[in-house]
Amino acid sequence: MNSTEVLSHTDLSGPGGGGNPAQICLGCGTCASACPMTGIEGFDPRRIVRLGQLGRFEELGESSLAWLCTMCGRCQEGCPMDVRITDMIREARDLGGEKTVPQAIGKGIEMFMETGNNLGLPDEDFGFIVEDVAEELTEEPGFEDFVLPVDKEDARLLFTLHNKLVNTQNEDLKHWWKILHAAGESWTLPGSRWEGVNWGFFSGQDQVLKAGVDTIVGNMERLRSRGLMYPE
Ligand code: SF4
Ligand code: SF4
Repeated sequence: MNSTEVLSHTDLSGPGGGGNPAQICLGCGTCASACPMTGIEGFDPRRIVRLGQLGRFEELGESSLAWLCTMCGRCQEGCPMDVRITDMIREARDLGGEKTVPQAIGKGIEMFMETGNNLGLPDEDFGFIVEDVAEELTEEPGFEDFVLPVDKEDARLLFTLHNKLVNTQNEDLKHWWKILHAAGESWTLPGSRWEGVNWGFFSGQDQVLKAGVDTIVGNMERLRSRGLMYPE
């Protein structure tokens, strides 16, 4: 894909319709004011737009500039012309290719595609961790009857996870489960392919983004859940 195709592939503008952001960016700086990364290592969302104006997406993808963005979306939220800055950054990152993806994200994506979670954790180990946390919870007053609903069919909510809740912050799982238990909620935790974090969104790789969404939808269909919960 060349730069011109990128510009036409991504609907970069809002009110003005698709096209080159050079025609619609006012240079007002609202995006820069809203961006939490402005000024860090020379980052400014207007530089992203400027490179887009010049059709230099590939160059943007290969530079560290594109990877300073957190993809929070605050820039385009405030943009009076609805310039799709995060779409531009995703396109640029994708064009930059796998070699430019930061190692931690690249490894997480590789693990996710292989195992269904960004840690590459086998289902058996996942089961051991969450059951261990559940057992600890039953030792607390008021939660003696807590039973972890793994792969329960027809529950109202599917509870998907950020991998850090399984890895380093599994105490936080208890807080969520306490709320669900106290509320008498009908919910379930998938016993496999439980990852809720979708790093395809950050890497710009649409096929990875789709695989992440398919994983969650697949679990909802398999267990016939009607709603989704994603605690961060
Ligand atoms: S807020 Fe929108 S119009 Fe204003 S400088 Fe940023 S991209 Fe351009
Ligand atoms: S999405 Fe990126 S460029 Fe936009 S405000 Fe967030 S960090 Fe800044």
